[in-house]
Amino acid sequence: MTNPFDLTGKVALVTGANTGIGQAIAVALANAGADIAAAGRTPPDETRAQVEGLGRRFTALPADFSSTAPIPTLVEETVGTLGGLDILVNNAGIIRRADSLDFTEADWDAVMDVNLKSVFFLCQAFGRYVINNGRRGKIINIASMLSFQGGIRVPSYTASKSGVAGLTKLLANEWAGKGINVNAIAPGYVETNNTTALRADEKRNAEILARIPAGRWSAPSDMGGPAVFLASAASDYVHGTVLPVDGGWLAR
Ligand code: NAP
Repeated sequence: MTNPFDLTGKVALVTGANTGIGQAIAVALANAGADIAAAGRTPPDETRAQVEGLGRRFTALPADFSSTAPIPTLVEETVGTLGGLDILVNNAGIIRRADSLDFTEADWDAVMDVNLKSVFFLCQAFGRYVINNGRRGKIINIASMLSFQGGIRVPSYTASKSGVAGLTKLLANEWAGKGINVNAIAPGYVETNNTTALRADEKRNAEILARIPAGRWSAPSDMGGPAVFLASAASDYVHGTVLPVDGGWLAR
């Protein structure tokens, strides 16, 4: 019997794969057999070493997603270098914190541009490639607990991640019948650069930990298995879902 989680021969484009959740997902997909194109603004040298160490091919594509400028060529470059494209992981993201009364337009736009606008146009570029070439594809967007909850002092982040959840469902409706599975992973509280400030705040850290049924913060590698599932044939009938990977946070 074939392994439904096997990604041998597949190519995945992962944004923001130099660190944190993106790196862990890239390595997990490579471990399941996929070759990796890593698109982002910091050279993903550590990720390259891990992916190549697993015997998979790796290419780094410089891209700054604060604008849509790099998007039109990314799919073409991935296909040109690795021979195809089957999986898109929209992981790159940022957060800005301030009281809503003081929140600036610049902090609104910066977060929406990376977390939502570029995500949509990357999905569009991927969708066009897959559908125009009669292929099958898997999109995994990285959502958040703030795709479900309101949060506090992060208005553009909450708006962007709620938008990612909505977009995931909309694209699933349009593309489920065209051979593309569009889903999202909503990580709980993960130990990455994104949460350094939260973990450094003793009071917030204790409050967060007390609410997580699993009793610990997530490691980036906790996102690997769910990503492999959503990238593989094992999830062929899964469309438009936002999968919480949160140690039980939303169950409280
Ligand atoms: P991270 O360690 O800060 O990684 C963020 C990644 O996004 C980095 O690779 C970063 O590149 C990239 N990025 C940011 N702005 C970019 C831009 N303009 N152009 C290209 N790449 C850019 O944080 P993380 O926690 O792994 O975050 C990954 C995703 O998970 C984000 O979408 C985040 O919102 C989401 N998430 C995180 C948590 C958590 O608890 N950590 C929870 C829920 C959701 P540089 O290294 O060059 O900045």
